[in-house]
Amino acid sequence: MKETAKNKNKHGLMTTCIHAGNRHDDVHGAIATPIYMTSNYRLPTDGTPVDWSGIHSDIYLRNGHTNQFVLQDKLSAIEGAEDCVVLASGVAALAAVFTTFLKAGDHVVVSQVCYSATSILFHELLPEKYGMKVTFVNSANLEEVKAAITPETKLVHIETPGNPTTEIADIAAIAASAHAVGAMLTIDSTFASPLLQKPLALGADLVIHSMTKYINGHGDALGGAVLGSTALIDKIKTQAMVNFGGIISPMTAWLICRGLATLPLRMKQYCQTGMKVAQFLENHPAVRFVYYPGLDSHPQHELAAKQMKGFSGMMCFDIKGDETAHTKFLSALTLICHAVSLGDLESLIVYTQPDSPKMQYYPEIFRDGFFRFSLGLEDAEDIIADLQGAFAAAGLA
Ligand SMILES: *Cc1c(COP(=O)(O)O)cnc(C)c1O
Repeated sequence: MKETAKNKNKHGLMTTCIHAGNRHDDVHGAIATPIYMTSNYRLPTDGTPVDWSGIHSDIYLRNGHTNQFVLQDKLSAIEGAEDCVVLASGVAALAAVFTTFLKAGDHVVVSQVCYSATSILFHELLPEKYGMKVTFVNSANLEEVKAAITPETKLVHIETPGNPTTEIADIAAIAASAHAVGAMLTIDSTFASPLLQKPLALGADLVIHSMTKYINGHGDALGGAVLGSTALIDKIKTQAMVNFGGIISPMTAWLICRGLATLPLRMKQYCQTGMKVAQFLENHPAVRFVYYPGLDSHPQHELAAKQMKGFSGMMCFDIKGDETAHTKFLSALTLICHAVSLGDLESLIVYTQPDSPKMQYYPEIFRDGFFRFSLGLEDAEDIIADLQGAFAAAGLA
């Protein structure tokens, strides 16, 4: 098994996404890395000692496997990270980070706008089971984040852009504050993908991606990744992968590699359509507000422009009109589907109603209800026409 281009960052991004990490098959000459669906491997019979809980050798699927290694090497090369671990879901990756680096009673600072499972982990599970102390912050407000970080703080976890609001946090400034007290900074960079921002280069200790979203990009597989130094990543592999069992399956790792190969092309399209659709919405008289980091009107647009290379296809907006108008708008969409998840081939939209308990964490303007909109790769004109049809159906055209 030959490694073809592991971690060679001298290539361009498209080349890296296609070639990095691939293992060519010396037996059959297959170009595509085969899928190794086996749960166990032959052990040495010559007395060589076996490292039963190892993370590198071929012993048992949960200790690590070739399709996982290909994906990890590809992602490390793209993100510019020393190392990577991929696990069964984005949430498994987040839980892996928190359970590996936190102890009972530790103090953590967390963005109040964050993915629902992260929110439940820090509001309920970790405090209730392990007595962790958590301070939630508006991570777009740097002074508030700095004030929350104390000498007791062990970890700062920030989502930027935040899901769902697309609020942006200043990664470099927060890294400096966290490191000043010896705390780690972990960034959930799912909305940006490894292409649009580099949290590690800005000082974060670990970056986390739900690969289910842009990295896989085809809406057909679940996975999560953590990237950072080998010292930190090896700890996650030993604890969360081997001993807590969060391993990804070979089939899923292979599928995600296939999706990842075209990420630069897809992301270019998301960014282009994102700007067109955000501008269309902003100029529509029936739109109450739009949050898209690429628009001048986004409250952290300047920071986003400094910290990110592009703004992806994630935005939030709301229409003027009562709940009936919202229902009519949603049900009139024909291409755009009312469904969770994001970064898919298909355009997906989710409506959050004004009475949702999560609203308290979101900016004032969101609290009358809003749509989180994940653009797909359809033609921009078709997406806009679908929205126009829905405005008309809701009596808002
Ligand atoms: C979807 C998502 C997750 C969770 O990922 P899964 O793969 O669904 O477990 C975590 N963080 C963000 C920002 C997400 O959008």
